[in-house]
Amino acid sequence: MNWFTNGSVRDQKHAERLFTEGGGCEHVEKDISLAAYWSAENDSLGRETYVYCKECWEKAQQEEDEEEECCFDCGKMFPRKDTIAYKWYGFYAPQGDEPLIICKDCKVLPKHLSRLARDRSEREEDERLEEEDDDIDLRYDVDEEDWTNEPEDNSDINW
Ligand SMILES: [Zn+2]
Ligand SMILES: [Zn+2]
Repeated sequence: MNWFTNGSVRDQKHAERLFTEGGGCEHVEKDISLAAYWSAENDSLGRETYVYCKECWEKAQQEEDEEEECCFDCGKMFPRKDTIAYKWYGFYAPQGDEPLIICKDCKVLPKHLSRLARDRSEREEDERLEEEDDDIDLRYDVDEEDWTNEPEDNSDINW
């Protein structure tokens, strides 16, 4: 089971660490200060990272945007930029969860909206239980950036 993560490079030290974990584009290879973004392929044993300069990242994103994906709800093909990768409440990639690809048409339809409503009520239920029971803290620390699959523009959909 492999899953993909990405994010922006925080600082030079971060860039160097990521670069030594995997590699990077030719520009970053020549000048590590150009490192702007990273992506990684993860499996249960670890991850392989790739560091991009801003230009190479944008090019890679553009190519990705044009790739066709199949909408989970209507079964039609759409370029990725016209879809969202929906992650439900409690989504956890390392346990094998994969986001649902939902097209721009289906994301406003009742079928998908009911998923969001269910997420909301589950989250509220959890929050209510947490308040009732503040002796036990079930939350765990996850390096958040490392589990983020999607660029910022989907942040209204991913909790
Ligand atoms: Zn580059
Ligand atoms: Zn659809």
